[in-house]
Amino acid sequence: KKQRVIDVDEVYAKICEGSRLHLSKAITLLESIHEEDKKAGQALLKKLLPKTGSSIRIGITGVPGAGKSTFIETFGLMLAEKGYKVAVLAIDPSSTVNGGSILGDKTRMEALARHQNAFIRPSPSSGTLGGVHKKTRETMLLCEATGYDIILIETVGVGQSETVVRGMVDFFALLVLTGAGDELQGMKKGIMELADAIVVHKADGDNERLAKKTVREYRQILHFLQPASPGWTTTAIPVSSLHHTGLDVFWETVLSFQSTMEESGEWQLRRQKQTKDWFHAMIRDRLIDNFFAQAGKKELVTTLEKELLVGELTVASAVDLLVSDNGF
Ligand code: GDP
Repeated sequence: KKQRVIDVDEVYAKICEGSRLHLSKAITLLESIHEEDKKAGQALLKKLLPKTGSSIRIGITGVPGAGKSTFIETFGLMLAEKGYKVAVLAIDPSSTVNGGSILGDKTRMEALARHQNAFIRPSPSSGTLGGVHKKTRETMLLCEATGYDIILIETVGVGQSETVVRGMVDFFALLVLTGAGDELQGMKKGIMELADAIVVHKADGDNERLAKKTVREYRQILHFLQPASPGWTTTAIPVSSLHHTGLDVFWETVLSFQSTMEESGEWQLRRQKQTKDWFHAMIRDRLIDNFFAQAGKKELVTTLEKELLVGELTVASAVDLLVSDNGF
């Protein structure tokens, strides 16, 4: 038998003991572009599956500058100090374009990164949003198997990434700033309807009174919106990560959400639906990848595009030409 660089059984055993180093190794396997690594990564994940699912998964979004990193570090440290094991992951839609990443190029969260109860992993820095989504979901499962109780997933509030993160977490928080009068009008109702809590952030100093007013304004608006989770009323909470205020209220809100959802059965239902959605998204991705991996397909698309533009083909007949002889 060929000697592997990474021994799956050994990594499995170490992950069961809570080894951060081996958690990192396992994530690297899943992110690898080499078939052999990917297979090993999947075998490992399959073996670890019975140990997953027991964490609280929290998504955090907000525009750049809303204070997401600061909030996650302060909140994460609070939880780590309470004895929880906290993992921080990120989905950065811009990383899929320019290869950067939210956490990777930041020297922030240093205190949290040093804490023995914390694990921080930057956003995968390449691939489509679908690919990044898959890696982050699998990383989340590995973190759970390693014993992390709380998973925090950060995403920048642009593009489809909020929907992607909402689709993999139990609780979704939207960070907003004060003086939201105009912003409130302009803010997409859709994003507010994804949130289980709206954190009015930087509620400190001169901003404190305004923050309270903003909280009231959000509560009024939330009243008229569709709640993100059946049986739960989305709330607005003033928080200052700088002064460490409101973080305990936020945490109590998460716990109260969890008990409400577990009691009604929605907690499990949502997770089952998320797994099914994930399965279907992966089927689509795989079929598309396989299709374009076939010789000549990409070139044929380019040719057909030209014929479409000069009006020689209808879109439907171009699709027929591309797909019909392929069996799918
Ligand atoms: P991100 O882009 O959403 O990750 O935002 P950052 O965490 O980088 O924070 C953006 C800026 O807001 C930084 O200069 C922070 O110091 C500041 N900031 C973050 N949290 C607070 C807070 O609770 N109060 C105040 N006053 N400033 C904050």
